[in-house]
Amino acid sequence: MEIADVARTVMERCDVLAGYSEEHGRLTRRFASHPMKEVNRLVETWMRQAGMATRQDHAGNIIGRYEGQGSSEKVFLLGSHLDTVRDAGKYDGVLGVLVALAGIELLHDRRERLPFALEIIGFADEEGLRYHYPFLGSKALTGSLEKSILYLTDEQGIPLIEAIRHFGGKPEALIFHCSEQKRYDDWLGYCEVHIEQGPVLEAKGLPVGVVTAITGLSRCKLVFEGEANHAGTQPMALRRDALCAAAEFVLAVERYAGTVEGLVATVGQLQVSPGAINVIPGRVSLSLDVRHQVDAIRREADQKLFEEAIQICTRRGIQVAREEMQETPTIPCTPWLMQLLEQAIDQVGGMPCALPSGAGHDAMIMSRCTDIAMLFVRCLGGISHHPAESVCIEDVAQAIRVMERFFLLLKQHVL
Ligand SMILES: [Zn+2]
Repeated sequence: MEIADVARTVMERCDVLAGYSEEHGRLTRRFASHPMKEVNRLVETWMRQAGMATRQDHAGNIIGRYEGQGSSEKVFLLGSHLDTVRDAGKYDGVLGVLVALAGIELLHDRRERLPFALEIIGFADEEGLRYHYPFLGSKALTGSLEKSILYLTDEQGIPLIEAIRHFGGKPEALIFHCSEQKRYDDWLGYCEVHIEQGPVLEAKGLPVGVVTAITGLSRCKLVFEGEANHAGTQPMALRRDALCAAAEFVLAVERYAGTVEGLVATVGQLQVSPGAINVIPGRVSLSLDVRHQVDAIRREADQKLFEEAIQICTRRGIQVAREEMQETPTIPCTPWLMQLLEQAIDQVGGMPCALPSGAGHDAMIMSRCTDIAMLFVRCLGGISHHPAESVCIEDVAQAIRVMERFFLLLKQHVL
């Protein structure tokens, strides 16, 4: 089997899976939908052709197992998700499942068995489009679902519990747990291949990169309270315009983030009230999203930005209040697995490159139970969650080469 042929098959399969959509003319594949069922069947067929035994779990994750030699219970996990966002591209999620499968096809072709089993998981829901509950598949697999989610309803009013039954799962068999971490002794680790969804690899001219960490974030809401008044009668010097204060703050955020390496900060939502053409804005509420790979730098930035908001508001006679929304710490990838991926890249003639992930992935959830690693594949213009998402076949071939070498290094490491 030639790598170029295997890579071509991966590209063709991405095209085929992109045809399974709930919407005409664009790709949308939500949890437990009919197209998702067809995709699971197709991926299952390909897994069996690669010598794997398959099963679908109660959350609808499709899992293929390539047995190891002997009676070892140990298993190394691979995978990504098979659901999509609305009007998605062809590669986000799907590519990770198919590249892992390509690596196993190469082993199967050589009749090679490792001293442990390999499992590929096609997660049924990562994007959370249908129930606004992301990472459903990996949370189910790791036993970290919250029980209350069973009664979430979709746009048609169908509860999640029904959707799970309809998809062939038994909701009562799902393991609900908690935030508590549980390590699975049989799991050696988890590796996820994914498109980068950013511009770093393209800028460096590299096909693949090793993820160092999944970046943490802080989200809050800031409410600027001034005084609404007549736009015609109130002189400029006497105004307490909440929007002018908010606008000054938005630019301060941009300026500050530009001075700290690796920091990104975004004001993505802004509500102005009363929001009339002839009224001075009395109240503005805005969202602030701050991310950095180092939690301490992120927290410091978040704090500094709030202090800046207070200064701006004091000067302008405006009140400002802060409401916490979310804080997620950075999830570091596991050093020994990162090293194996870097060695694998080096041994297939590539240049190892380390980069953080700004987006969330199933690997984040898997990290609660096992060691994790991620391999990013360059994507055109860093575009994702869009039909223009694009990867090139040579990069996919390189990712498959790295995967194949990674299996070999893993074997040496485990022995
Ligand atoms: Zn994804």
